[in-house]
Amino acid sequence: MPVMSRRDFGRLAGGFGAALLAARAPAFARGAAKVVVVGGGAGGATTARLIKRAAPQLDVTLIESNPIYTFSSLSNLYLGGLRPLESLNHAYAGLHRSNVTVVQDTARDVDAAARVVRTAGGRTYRYDRLVLGPGVNIKYQSIQGYSRAAAEVMPHAYTSEAHGKRMLKRHLRAMRDGGTVLLAPPKGPYGCPPAPYERACMIAHYLKTRKPRSKLIILDAKKSIPEQAAFAAVFDRYYRNVVELHLSRDVEDLALLRVNPRTREIFTRSGRRLRPDVANIIPPQRAGVIAGRAGCTVGDWCPVTERFRSKTVKHVYVIGDACQAPELAKSAYAAHSQAGIVAEDIVADLAGKPRGEVHYESICWSVVAPGRALRIGTTFAAYDGRMKATQGSMSDPTESDEARRQNYAEALAWYARMSADMFGTPKSEPAHKAG
Ligand code: FAD
Repeated sequence: MPVMSRRDFGRLAGGFGAALLAARAPAFARGAAKVVVVGGGAGGATTARLIKRAAPQLDVTLIESNPIYTFSSLSNLYLGGLRPLESLNHAYAGLHRSNVTVVQDTARDVDAAARVVRTAGGRTYRYDRLVLGPGVNIKYQSIQGYSRAAAEVMPHAYTSEAHGKRMLKRHLRAMRDGGTVLLAPPKGPYGCPPAPYERACMIAHYLKTRKPRSKLIILDAKKSIPEQAAFAAVFDRYYRNVVELHLSRDVEDLALLRVNPRTREIFTRSGRRLRPDVANIIPPQRAGVIAGRAGCTVGDWCPVTERFRSKTVKHVYVIGDACQAPELAKSAYAAHSQAGIVAEDIVADLAGKPRGEVHYESICWSVVAPGRALRIGTTFAAYDGRMKATQGSMSDPTESDEARRQNYAEALAWYARMSADMFGTPKSEPAHKAG
């Protein structure tokens, strides 16, 4: 894969809004067409706002279970004691102000023939186009003994729910100095491939600064990890006596087979047994439940075209973590970037207008120490009706401190931009540090 410069990446990011401008304000032949978006996360909230901005005459409804969205991006900083979780909270008032109808309810079923969404609250919403952005669901049953109840004791903290992150932090706070924390990442695919290792750095920072006799053991189902050389260098530089990384090998599968939340025991597939003081279990994942109910899943994920149309259900799009096509990245950056393609396609399709080129990108920053971050980015473009990764860039293990400071500043700037696009309300940086 050719390596891409920062400037190239910046130019491509600008293409996100340009495609929409080309398709704005179409004249519709009939009354207001209806677009329903399920899931007000990085993909769904952005799509709803972009459609309404490009075609105000469309009737856009967003169905979201929760009144507040808490970003997972930057949430590892909360575990590290570097940021309050509340600083990542956003309400949906900005979407109301953009004339998107926001419904706080859970979509339960989709009748694809009648083009109707039914909610847990008993309401029905007719659609001309439906966008599903439900994110991921945890496959609890993939590890014996793991369940929603077990996750209170051994949190995954790996969905958009804030509760799990708070629970994990509570366990870290309660742990004695000299204790052992276990972090068990899955094989994948899962949201934001480097995020478990950013989390490792932030937990290690917390331990180093608050409980310096403690250890973090990473027990990984994979044989290698994203940005391995750079993370290994970071672990060595900042957390040499804190972090131990154990990878699976041909002769040893470290994927979790079974847990016992009562005794806090953990068993790997190849027979290792551990009893950590705090366990952060990140199980395998699949598309959010509604995607399966809508008939969009094949296996765990939703196959889509290069414009994120479902390959199995007509008039339905799947965006963000829930969708799958070869090499598609699962990240908030990607979901937010994909929203431009989906919004443009819907607006153009309903107006019978031509559409622009298809390309999007994904960048993940990983905060590895206060004010320092790694960066990995990939661009995707459509060839022969399929999305393919075209260019990539990745932090070098020997990257300078200055470059890592810049990466960190970029991550904060991206977060402010993305929250403004999704909610119309950029968050200012917190004035104080979180404990
Ligand atoms: P989500 O953002 O998860 O949103 C889904 C929304 O749908 C939720 O609000 C949910 O309540 C709602 N919903 C689900 N089902 C229904 C239903 N039936 N009815 C109504 N509402 C429903 N990505 C990055 O780019 N950079 C990072 O630094 C980064 N760090 C991460 C750190 C962690 C710890 C984790 C867990 C993830 C991280 N990610 C990061 C990944 C990122 O959070 C996801 O890729 C992104 O949020 C996916 O967006 P989405 O729109 O698909 O789903």
